[in-house]
Amino acid sequence: MEDRNRKFYGKIIFKGKIKVNTGLHIGSQRDVSEIGGIDNPVVKDPITQLPYIPGSSLKGKLRSLLEIAENTKKPKEEQGIGDEKFFNRKIIRGSKEPIWIHVCENYKDAKECPVCRLFGSGGNSNFPARVVVRDAHLTDYWKEKWETGEELTEIKHENTLDRITSAASPRKIERIPPGVEFNFEIIYTIEDENDWKEDVKNLLSTMKMLEDSYLGGCGSRGYGKVEFIFEECKFRSLNYYFGKDYEKPIEIKENVENTINEFYNIFNKELEEIIKSISQNNGGDNGYKNNKT
Ligand SMILES: [Zn+2]
Repeated sequence: MEDRNRKFYGKIIFKGKIKVNTGLHIGSQRDVSEIGGIDNPVVKDPITQLPYIPGSSLKGKLRSLLEIAENTKKPKEEQGIGDEKFFNRKIIRGSKEPIWIHVCENYKDAKECPVCRLFGSGGNSNFPARVVVRDAHLTDYWKEKWETGEELTEIKHENTLDRITSAASPRKIERIPPGVEFNFEIIYTIEDENDWKEDVKNLLSTMKMLEDSYLGGCGSRGYGKVEFIFEECKFRSLNYYFGKDYEKPIEIKENVENTINEFYNIFNKELEEIIKSISQNNGGDNGYKNNKT
């Protein structure tokens, strides 16, 4: 039998900004391009028409970076693609080459797997993700700029040369110019009193890896360099959700690197004690320090 004894100790909520440092292109799904239109428009909110970063794109990129990192740590015979290998699931989209991703097939494996535990797995039995990545919308400053008529996307003309015929195929790619900022929110749910630290550290490490990689398309051509700026972090315990406790602000560093470097000072003993105390009391508030008077 699978151990489905799910628990809930609280949530750690990260908020801040994603700053675009080089043109960002996250494409919207459009199959047919209009004549003279943009071949590759960026994804926009259907109501406001403002560009945004879909949570699924951000989460997908973070997941793929952690998958590669974990694959690297595996023994040689388990690395790579194939049914018995780390990248074990083939995804075929349209006429493109198949993409191999990693998915744990059962709940027990997923619980032991740093990737599936954090980002979830849709294997034979579902393991729900412990991390939630919200859509990232423009900050008020940039929304205001848009409302006063400033263009928040630019059209880049690119010329791809066919390597065999040398025929040029000019195309227009829409992108978000450098400087634009989006608000992000990433929420981690603490379901296990022991492995939350490793999960949070993995989450922060993938954010750091993303800063040295790229978000969206055309990354090898310079697009998609982004930077995370933390503005707020808080812990909401199980008791908080039942009106018996206040949320606890966590003093986080502004950038991801300093946050990782000072991980144990930031996600300190105090937090560990609270989580342990919830665990010992089976979620009740006996002996659990109650801040609300
Ligand atoms: Zn897995």
